[in-house]
Amino acid sequence: MTKDNGAARRGKPKLGQHFLRDTSAVTRIVEALGDISQSTVLEIGPGPGTLTGMLAKRSGRLIAIEVDRVLAAQLSMAYALVPNVEVIQADVLTVNFDTLFAPRPGTMRPGITRVLDKVRVVGNLPYYITSDILLHLFAFERHFDRVVIMVQREVADRLVAEPGHSEYGLLSATAQLYAHVEKLFELPPEAFSPPPKVHSAVIRLSMEPKAEELGVSAEAMVDFFKLAFSQKRKTLSNNLRVRYSEAVVKAALKETKIKASVRAEALSLDQMAALVRALAPVPALPGAGTPS
Ligand code: SAM
Repeated sequence: MTKDNGAARRGKPKLGQHFLRDTSAVTRIVEALGDISQSTVLEIGPGPGTLTGMLAKRSGRLIAIEVDRVLAAQLSMAYALVPNVEVIQADVLTVNFDTLFAPRPGTMRPGITRVLDKVRVVGNLPYYITSDILLHLFAFERHFDRVVIMVQREVADRLVAEPGHSEYGLLSATAQLYAHVEKLFELPPEAFSPPPKVHSAVIRLSMEPKAEELGVSAEAMVDFFKLAFSQKRKTLSNNLRVRYSEAVVKAALKETKIKASVRAEALSLDQMAALVRALAPVPALPGAGTPS
């Protein structure tokens, strides 16, 4: 079932303004968030409020961040008297979530440390900044437990791709370092107004940061992914040679039992982490190993 959306006719393509018309998709997206009755939900890019209405009714608290001044002002007015909804006019990429979700003055008793409830994120994203938004959310992953977003279909396929598949790359490895990723369903261009040139898909990320159990820092892993996937057609060994000497690369591959001819997209996260550890051994403590 679809509905026409007057605001869609004024959509700004530069801001990725393709508004969802398929009302059954709205329900499926909101339901993919699970029980949100006690949760804070962050909506990215509410636009004219396509998802906002159902989210406002079902969530404990809703924070909607919209960059377009006109749409944000219209939404603020529409929800001015709804106590659980807050509309913020901002570029989501500039939002510091530590500050946004910090306990408000007067809500904490001195001396008591409260474990803050995790936030669920939802949005029909502006596709031109999907990767940037994901990286921004990952940088603040401690605040989030579930993310349900609409992305371009090809991006969804890359996000869920497993090692060994041609779509597996930097985005897949990075997302899977932070979350369990599922592709839920696809939508054709006609589900939006105006229709985008591409097909879309809804994905769900259940946040499960893995760096600690892999014995590496997330920053070191992502930095390594950037190097390992820098030239997809080159072997892993050749990509690593941009930063490390031949001897260091050879020794690390030998230690981790990884073939020199392998390409980065064939490696599991475990193998990537083993390489990160082998390439950057923990420095020996001063005096350690020196006979006294
Ligand atoms: N949620 C609405 C829907 O499903 O119909 C609108 C989705 S539309 C694809 C993307 C929305 O994100 C637009 O309203 C656009 O103005 C907004 N947007 C674009 N860039 C943004 C940014 N950097 N920060 C916050 N919102 C942004």
